[in-house]
Amino acid sequence: MTSCWQNELADSFTDPVDLLSFLGLATGNCDVTTEVSAVFPFRVTQAYAARIRKGDLSDPLLRQVLPDTLERLDVHGFGSDPVGDLNSVSHPGVLHKYSGRALLITTGACAIHCRYCFRREFPYDGQQLAKSREHAAIESIAEDNSIQEIILSGGDPLVLNNRRLGALIQSIERIPHLRRLRLHSRLPVVLPSRVDPEFLSLFDRLRLQVVMVIHVNHPNELDESVKYAIKAMTQKGITVLNQAVLLRGVNDDASCLIDLSEKLLAYGALPYYLHLLDRVRGTAHFEVPEDQANRLLEELRRRLPGYLVPRLVREIPGAPYKQPL
Ligand code: SF4
Repeated sequence: MTSCWQNELADSFTDPVDLLSFLGLATGNCDVTTEVSAVFPFRVTQAYAARIRKGDLSDPLLRQVLPDTLERLDVHGFGSDPVGDLNSVSHPGVLHKYSGRALLITTGACAIHCRYCFRREFPYDGQQLAKSREHAAIESIAEDNSIQEIILSGGDPLVLNNRRLGALIQSIERIPHLRRLRLHSRLPVVLPSRVDPEFLSLFDRLRLQVVMVIHVNHPNELDESVKYAIKAMTQKGITVLNQAVLLRGVNDDASCLIDLSEKLLAYGALPYYLHLLDRVRGTAHFEVPEDQANRLLEELRRRLPGYLVPRLVREIPGAPYKQPL
């Protein structure tokens, strides 16, 4: 039997023409956008689409998901694996990049396709944690006492159904040297119905500390349904943090970032990272220059209490941690 959230997921927009029509926008250049989305498919949930302003092609939420002809530009310095993921594979489905932490590529699927995604060219077929690889991957973590934290990533781990996700969490829970479980997911924001009672029950009686890192770039992504999902998780004792990507034409404005931090706190999540764009091919039009990023952060420091100022970082392949600016 499918859950409510799975029906909603199946009901997503998968053609940019349909989304533009829903928003009352002209679909004249959609031959081009359809062509671009053949390289990195288009996908947007109804819940996210409902927060896009109707009739506004420059809406910051729309800009994050609408394929653009600029994605076809081949710009120097932009490649297929901008953060060196493939050099960090310790086992199929497992990335071991930073000390004490291992990351599982649980799936290649997402509820929404963000045009700036740093894994838009990631070879999921060979690298995701298929069921057949799971046992060996868990064994490899069990044999490495230096690992204290497991990060469930993807794709988006919350696309997995509760049975699969619950079994994976229990396998991780049984490894005695692990202390924390971290999940990185955009579903509590773009499909808040995913945070249903059955999902929340997966965290009952866990020994591991649980951290959920959501991904919100603009305050308009946060509405009452997201607030409810965040509150439900925090009431379970889950620490909810946010990471955002600094994106030209989306959130490269101090007032917007301040609103985002204020709203996140009001909803129960703390701002954690503000990432410079990872330079993946097809995303150069989203890049905000480093000096502008530093000026924005200076403005945030002046106008916000320290706990609402996210850490501005960049990921450099091979570096032992994310580099603060
Ligand atoms: S949800 Fe995350 S992994 Fe999926 S497309 Fe967006 S940024 Fe990439």
